[in-house]
Amino acid sequence: MSREPPLRELFSLEGRAALVTGAAGGIGSAVVARLVEAGAHVVASDLPGSEVPGAAEVLPCNLVEQDAVEWLLGEVGHHTGRLDVLVHAAGITRDGVLWKMSPEDWRTVLAVNLDSAFELLRHAAPLMRRTGGGSAVLLSSINGERGKFGQANYAASKAGLIGLARTAARELGAFGIRVNCLAPGLIRTPMTAVLDPRFLEEGERETALGRLGNPDDVARAALFLVSPLARHVTGQVLRVDGGQLTA
Ligand code: NAD
Repeated sequence: MSREPPLRELFSLEGRAALVTGAAGGIGSAVVARLVEAGAHVVASDLPGSEVPGAAEVLPCNLVEQDAVEWLLGEVGHHTGRLDVLVHAAGITRDGVLWKMSPEDWRTVLAVNLDSAFELLRHAAPLMRRTGGGSAVLLSSINGERGKFGQANYAASKAGLIGLARTAARELGAFGIRVNCLAPGLIRTPMTAVLDPRFLEEGERETALGRLGNPDDVARAALFLVSPLARHVTGQVLRVDGGQLTA
């Protein structure tokens, strides 16, 4: 008779290899810490010159340079021989109302946030298939769902990630690969530290829990999605926003 594994094993990533992009950032570094704690061999990637404490390896990579993602996944395959987990946390903002937004700011945000995800999934899928499957998590945003004044480029990129994840989930499910999005609300990280305090207060007021999130709030949800606990969860968008967006 088969026995269900104990709960702690359902969170375990022992013997698994993970790649985290944006790994030096607020959310990325918290995700690295949780994946390492769960026993994964974590390959961290961020822009050249970045430091990522705790990761087994750091691979500097500007995701929008030509052939960069193909190189990155090639290195991961070379170093680990497998890929079980991908968390795409690299992202940028270039805010401005759309009638003042330059085409360059539009294209740059789409390239860093969305084009990179397409490239990552395209090159990660064959590696995941090799060992029978895996799990990918793309960092979307509640602003990709609701839109946000001053963030046409960012919101479009984050909405694009949702369509990409839902499609990839359908196409890759047969190979045992799950693909989901996390949609954080306002989280205290270097990305939001530059915002006018008024926006942070507004975000806090919007939450049901009465506080802004921190990076580990998001990392916990990422760990759930990539762990065996979420084995039947794919093509979903999990909000981690303290109830900021309830519709
Ligand atoms: P962050 O600025 O702290 O980290 C982002 C990381 O991405 C940085 O370390 C940066 O160096 C890296 N990066 C930027 N451009 C890159 C490129 N071309 N190639 C490789 N790496 C690059 O931001 P964060 O708040 O930790 O956000 C992480 C993810 O979560 C992003 O995708 C962001 O859009 C998303 N998100 C954040 C919030 C929030 O409130 N902080 C809310 C919703 C979604």
